[in-house]
Amino acid sequence: MHLSQGHLNVLATCPRQFQHIYLDQLRAPETPEAQARQEWGSRFHLLMQQHEMGLPIASLASEDPIHQCFTAFVETAGAVLTQPSHPPQFRQSEHCRTWHLADPLGRLEDGYGFTVIYDLLILDEEQAQILDWKTYSCPEDPRRLAKNWQTRLYLYVLAETSPYEPEQISMTYWFVRPQLAASPERQSSEMTPEVTQFAGPQSLRFAYSAALHQQTQQDLTHLLGQLTTWLEQYLAGTPFPQALGPCDLCNFTPRCDRNDPKQNAIGTRSQLPDFESIQEVAL
Ligand code: SF4
Repeated sequence: MHLSQGHLNVLATCPRQFQHIYLDQLRAPETPEAQARQEWGSRFHLLMQQHEMGLPIASLASEDPIHQCFTAFVETAGAVLTQPSHPPQFRQSEHCRTWHLADPLGRLEDGYGFTVIYDLLILDEEQAQILDWKTYSCPEDPRRLAKNWQTRLYLYVLAETSPYEPEQISMTYWFVRPQLAASPERQSSEMTPEVTQFAGPQSLRFAYSAALHQQTQQDLTHLLGQLTTWLEQYLAGTPFPQALGPCDLCNFTPRCDRNDPKQNAIGTRSQLPDFESIQEVAL
């Protein structure tokens, strides 16, 4: 089974949600706002990759809002984005690494595979830096990001697949927050975001250590052991366990028979009104 940090975050938050999304293939459609944010994020990542590869970005008009965001980012984080002549570095954007872990219970023959993609990886003699671009605002509580499986898995996989000691490895998030709005005339046909305001970039750096590496190893082993058990039970007809709560932000509340069903949630037929009992209205 192949997993990403997204799978681990969902699994750790609610195993039943993991089942709904990844095994039962149920997903609520994304809102236009979420689609617009995602599209903007993809364009920004592509631009960063293009810059790192030394490709021209002049085709982007300077009045293009994404260009303005990019320029402000380069002004703030210029040292990170400039390739030094000394010491020599290995730098690669969209650097992909895969890693394999045997099933902790020894029951899944092929175990678990992991793929991580670093927005930018910088390696030199002394240290290894992972950089990640986020197109949303810096979280108020960095501890939540420290616990997020993206941070944990990205650091862990680099320590497992490189000669660097954990203490030599770090991960830095750069938050580039655009405020997006679709222009009214475009809303009906296409969702092209416009940046109406740009908040200056901020960064959060997480240093790694042997103790954190060991803790991640333990937590990962525990979580994957649980996943193996839940997968076996699921194949035998028992659903994954539900989170203790709260479920108020989840789209699956009707399907899970939890309160506060949302209008846009994926419902089960039993929770829809009985159509036979609804009177016809003459037109
Ligand atoms: S409604 Fe609650 S239990 Fe069900 S998937 Fe969502 S978070 Fe999990």
